[in-house]
Parts: sequence; structure tokens; C-alpha cells
Amino acid sequence: MATFGIDLGTTYSCVAHIDDTGRPAIIKNRPGDDTTPSVVYFESPENVVVGKEAKAVAKIQPDLVVSLIKRQMGKSFEITVHGQTHTPESISALILRELADAAAENLGEEVKDVVITVPAYFGVAERNATRKAGEIAGLNVLSIVDEPVAAALHYDAINTGGTKTLFVYDLGGGTFDTTVIKVSPEEIQVVCTDGDHHLGGADWDDRLAEYLLEQFQAEHPETEAADDEEFLQNLAAGAEDIKKQLSRMQARRFNARFGGDTSQIEVSREKFEELTSELLERTVTITQRTLRTAAERGITEFDDVLLVGGSSRMPAVSAALESLGLKPRMHDPDLAVAKGAARYALIESIKVRSPEDGEAPAEVVEEVAAQLNVPVEKVLGLVGKRVATVVPRAFGVKVINRVGGREHYTVEHVLRANTPLPAQTEPQRFGTAYPNQVEISVEIWEQSGSVESEALEDNEHIAEGLITGLPPLPENSPIDISFEMAADGLLMVHAVELKTRKDLHIEVQIKGGLTDEQVDAARTAVARYNVSA
Ligand code: ADP
Ligand code: MG
Repeated sequence: MATFGIDLGTTYSCVAHIDDTGRPAIIKNRPGDDTTPSVVYFESPENVVVGKEAKAVAKIQPDLVVSLIKRQMGKSFEITVHGQTHTPESISALILRELADAAAENLGEEVKDVVITVPAYFGVAERNATRKAGEIAGLNVLSIVDEPVAAALHYDAINTGGTKTLFVYDLGGGTFDTTVIKVSPEEIQVVCTDGDHHLGGADWDDRLAEYLLEQFQAEHPETEAADDEEFLQNLAAGAEDIKKQLSRMQARRFNARFGGDTSQIEVSREKFEELTSELLERTVTITQRTLRTAAERGITEFDDVLLVGGSSRMPAVSAALESLGLKPRMHDPDLAVAKGAARYALIESIKVRSPEDGEAPAEVVEEVAAQLNVPVEKVLGLVGKRVATVVPRAFGVKVINRVGGREHYTVEHVLRANTPLPAQTEPQRFGTAYPNQVEISVEIWEQSGSVESEALEDNEHIAEGLITGLPPLPENSPIDISFEMAADGLLMVHAVELKTRKDLHIEVQIKGGLTDEQVDAARTAVARYNVSA
């Protein structure tokens, strides 16, 4: 049973498997690259192009090209192209199909059983949407695994022995995440996670592209280049290229041409770093916040600080972390997540072939050990490794506040981000808002911004329930509310009115998820396209 790990990234995706020598290996895509831009171009009603060709037309045909779809995962979002309505799941499925088809073609074997990675901050809805994207693509999704956990698994494969505490700094194309992870022979444990989901390499590109445009306009004041989609597309592509080259070189030159006007624009690494210093500073702030959270949990030292995500190749990243006293280490930045996922996929393939809660059959373990080229004990150790994660974001209850006779709503968080899963909070005491209340409405809200905030606009309403049939209660009568989250992220809320002991259980349903019928319909629709690179 061949298994595969897929890093379905915001900007770039990647597929890996464990090869005949037992090492994780990247499977190249059709153009021969290790990673594929997560960009979909609906060229015609029948043809879809995924990858670098699609990325190349993004700014010229914005209505036919979809980028950064991962940001919409788990949300109710629809987009109609050539009369066909798409969801984040179906767009992601098109990317997955191209990745899987290209890998299958390359290896000459079927690509069916996969593990797909997601950011640690993804909640239940986003994870579910990712799994469904896999199903729509016709894949068998063995499991969903956190990206930093996959990176840590890959690290663990290389650096064996003992318990290690890792700080994972992941600066990708569209997102930034920090995660503290403990790896021991028995367990991979996420200690805390933080990040900014609208910060990544694309922001660095934008700053540089703006600068290139300004320089061009300064030389050619009459130019109308800023209104030309094709020119802007060239600038965007050029900016990303130059940015990457500046990770190795001190200066690059960009040749801009519009109409009869040309410019040679020189960009030094120093200039680039100056243009983007505010962006880097934002990652430093979040890194410091994560260090503080880890310190609150007793972790002040790290065995390794792993740099993952393509953008962590920028030399300024290591320099900034060193100035915080950390010793960062580049960890196969573009490929570590896919490689770790490949390893996880193999472990999962043993689990699915084992009886529930029982031991893995010896012949399965032996087969995998042979495939991995490692001793049987090592495989058993891997299969037994537990993965423990944390609550990705804070959850709470909407409350009324009265300040100087005026009322406003806020969210009081009960279940805090980074609580180890499974989690069960103590009951928190709330009070009724008005005299003679005969019912109590309990609204559950989830933190939506990257930091916990009680402001309503920084939270999202996810569920509600009503306790009814109460005798008229005096104002501020006590209600206890407790939260419980299972290891898989499912949330249950329990509220009790203390006088009558009338209570309410709310099982938070995933909003906006596709039904089985919708998944089937999308699978048929996606299968009808010719997908190519
Ligand atoms: P994601 O997982 O968010 O899709 P990746 O981890 O694959 O993203 O990183 C993609 C980002 O890394 C892009 O913005 C790309 O321009 C950037 N990148 C790749 N190589 C380099 C490099 N050598 N120097 C700077 N940035 C790079
Ligand atoms: Mg990534």
C-alpha cells in the first residue's frame, strides 16, 4: 500500500513519499519542480491549469484565476467561473488532483492513500473542509496532520534520540506560524501555537513590486505602466524572482520595459530589507509572544529552532531570530512539511490496517520496516507515537456590559487558546442580565483574530442555545458555563442555571461544511475537468 504526504500550501504545494531506500523523497511535478504553485486557472469550461502556468496569468486574467484559496477553507465562500460554482473544497480538490496525477505519472503507480497537512491553527471546520477537498479529488485521506507536527516528525527522523523541545518558525507565502513542540520517543506534543494568517512572502513581493514601479515611474514620469495588467504581472513575477535571488546575492537588477520606455532598476539586499523591515518586525513580535506563552508553560530553552517555509530562506530572518538570542537552523524549508507528512502517512497506513486499539499485525510492520529499511522496533516506535495538540483559538460566551448606563456586548473567553487537548474547563460563573428573566440565551463565540480580544468584531459567532421555562429570576442570577473540547477539536458547551438546575448542552456543529451529497456532486464536477500543469 503506497502512501503519500501532501503539503497543501497557501501559495505552494508539494508531494512526498517514502522511497525504496526508506528515505522521504519529493515527487516532482510535471514541469519538473519540487513544489507547485497553489494556483488554479480556469482556462475554458473544460480545461483547468494548476501551477506555475496558472500563476503566470493570475494578474492578466484575474477573473479566471484563483489563488490563496486556503485562506477560505472552512468558510462559506463561493466563486463562479464559466458558469460553474466552486467552493474552497472544490478548488483545493483541483490542486490536489493535479498534484496526485503528476505524482502518479512520475512514479508509474497509483496515488490514492494520502495524508494532507494543515496549519496548527486550523479549527474543526477548516480541517473538515481539507479532508473533503481530498475526497472530492478522489483521494483516500488517511489523516490530516498539523504542518509543524509534520516538520517535527521529519526533524525527528534525522535527529533521533531523547526528548527535544523545538521552536518551529514557519514563514510561507501567505501565512506565518510559530509553534513550540516537544518530541519524545512516545509522543509529539504541541505546546503552543501562534501566528498571523495574512503575512507571508507575497507581502515581501508586493513591497518590492511597489518599489520597482515607483523607480520606473520616476524615470518615466509620463508612463501609464501602472494601469497595464501585463506590466504589473511582469513586475510581480520579477519581484518574487529578485527576492529569491537576494537570499543568495547582494544585489540584483530588474529590467523593466513598457511601451518604448526601459529602466534598469538596481535592488540591493540592503534596500530590499529596508523596504520590508516592518514585515519582518511583525514576525519578531509574534515570535516573542510565542516565547512568552512557552515560558508560562515552563519552557525557556529550545534544542533547536527550525526554520521552515520558503520565506525563511531570507537571510534577514535568521539574523532577526539570532538577535532574540535564538539559534535558528534551516530545516529543508520548502520540503520538510511534505516529507514529514510522508512519514506520517506510512504510520497511518499501518494504523488503518491494525485492529482498533489493537496492536499492528506483525506482517504489516515487517512489510513497512522492509520498505523503510529500518528495524522492526523503529517502526513499532513510530506507530506508537502519539500526537497531542492544543486548542487552536479561544472560545467564549457573549456577555452584556454596562458602562455608565450604556450597554455593549463583549466576549468573555472560557476555553483559552493553547490549552492541551482533550480539554475540559472549570465551570465559569455568569449572571442573568435583566430582572425577571424567564429564559437565558447562551451564545458561543470563537476568536477570529490572531490575538485574543473581547471585542465582538474580533470574534465570530459559532453556536447558540436557550434555557427556557424559568421562573422570573432576579437580575444577576448565577449561571455556570463550562467548555469541553475533544482531541479532534469537537466542542461541547454546558450551561446550568443554578437555582432551577435547568441546563443546556450545545454541541457545536461545523458551519458551512459540505454535505455528503455536495461532496459527491463536486467530485463528479471536478472529475469532468481536464486538469493539467
Ligand atoms: P506556503 O506553504 O505558505 O504555500 P512555502 O513554504 O512553499 O509557502 O513558501 C513559499 C514562499 O517562499 C513564497 O513567497 C516564495 O516566494 C518564498 N521563497 C521561496 N524560496 C525563497 C528564497 N530562496 N528566498 C526568499 N523567499 C523564498
Ligand atoms: Mg507551508
